[in-house]
Amino acid sequence: MKLYNTLTRQIETFVPHEAGKVGMYTCGPTVYNFAHIGNLRTYLMEDVLEKYLRYAGYEVKRVMNITDIGHLSDDADSGEDKMLLGARREHKTVLELAKFYTDAFFADCAKLNIKRPDVVQPATGCVEDFIRVIAELERKGYAYKAGGNVYFDTSKLRQYHVFFNFKEDDLEEGVREGVEKDDNKRNKNDFVLWFTKSKFEDQALKWDSPWGVGYPGWHIECSCIAMKNLGEYVDIHCGGIDNVFPHHTNEIAQSEAYLGHPWCRYWFHVLHLNTAKGKMSKSSGGFLTLSKLEEAGHTPMEYRFFCLQSHYRNSLVYSEETFANAANAYRKLKSRALAVPAEGEVDAAAFARCKARFAEAMDADLNTSLAVTCVYDVLKDKDLGGATKRALLEDFDRVLSLDLLKEEEKAAPAGGLTDAQIEEAIAARAAAKKAKNYAEADRIRAELAAAGVALTDTPNGTVFARK
Ligand code: AMP
Ligand code: ZN
Repeated sequence: MKLYNTLTRQIETFVPHEAGKVGMYTCGPTVYNFAHIGNLRTYLMEDVLEKYLRYAGYEVKRVMNITDIGHLSDDADSGEDKMLLGARREHKTVLELAKFYTDAFFADCAKLNIKRPDVVQPATGCVEDFIRVIAELERKGYAYKAGGNVYFDTSKLRQYHVFFNFKEDDLEEGVREGVEKDDNKRNKNDFVLWFTKSKFEDQALKWDSPWGVGYPGWHIECSCIAMKNLGEYVDIHCGGIDNVFPHHTNEIAQSEAYLGHPWCRYWFHVLHLNTAKGKMSKSSGGFLTLSKLEEAGHTPMEYRFFCLQSHYRNSLVYSEETFANAANAYRKLKSRALAVPAEGEVDAAAFARCKARFAEAMDADLNTSLAVTCVYDVLKDKDLGGATKRALLEDFDRVLSLDLLKEEEKAAPAGGLTDAQIEEAIAARAAAKKAKNYAEADRIRAELAAAGVALTDTPNGTVFARK
């Protein structure tokens, strides 16, 4: 398989550290708000990568962190603590907030057929590991204290800017928003390993440490969680393109300083989902969620199809029109797939031939749009019998996960639910909300929306209207 590696800026043949096995690390979500469909694009393409590696015969172990500590918008002791702001906004504790949005994230993933990683690790569960690694970095001379915080000293490295043969234009894309100046730093690129001096007096989560009561910096989380679960070598590290700098650059710096040898071989970055106004982002507000797409009458599989039609290394522009076109194409594709009669025997030679073409597309740096073309080619191939076509669609869908042959449960036609059924669903939603199971409450709302019933919450309870 050939994959583009951001580290070398080349398409390379993928060779794992240990033959037949892949250790894969994914930067997980920050959980102070719903994931937007841009975030979900990144996770969806990473899911395709994982599934294709499995399809190609590798044994994959995939690890994801959940960023539930902090989080400043940058490394300096400035910016806002988004978790704290979110908790205040929603009258929850920080941990309640994290749990709620973690559940909502995995509920969205499940709807999009994004497999749950083998290990999902909230950062709050690993603080001892962070402290241990920071202490070792300090012992090895890679850390210094300044202004109450512990910093990583990038001048001690033989090489820092690993991703840094960027062109100016790329750099703009590859840089996380809002990196501010911090006068405590000895070198421009130094970053915080441990904070004890926070400008947030009421910082919600703090731990005791050899450097005082405080909390870990942002980057140490991923290095430690990866090392803890995947050992000293990571084969593929994934994330959105904005993670390249400073996050991934700093992950490499501290992991390699700690381990004393190269750490991760392949870096897989997904380009952004943009709208006409620019990058979709959590902090800018007004972003689109999967639930909003569903409320507008779309299905998660339509969004998955929309994403698969473009290459992960191209920015994808979302507009109602481009999405509606993809949604339409998906519905047609699926009805054609379902109409294939399950008749005759599978023609093994034809099966192998078509499968090889599909694999060739995916081997070429995950060319998902060409892989989707393989699906169309199978459907229109007059020489293939029904059984062979169905077997191929099923086989490709192990990777594409588009539910091509899955019969939908008969959706009720608009207004097809009785009033009693709707009231029952409204009561179940109210009970779910009371139990703080907001993911379930949202699911019920989306289900009713799909059946043509819109809900409005009023001070006197929830009312419904048939669309
Ligand atoms: P966050 O929860 O903000 O840390 O983001 C979760 C993941 O989504 C990270 O891998 C980001 O790089 C990625 N991401 C953020 N914004 C976008 C976007 N507009 N399009 C695609 N991926 C994104
Ligand atoms: Zn990370």
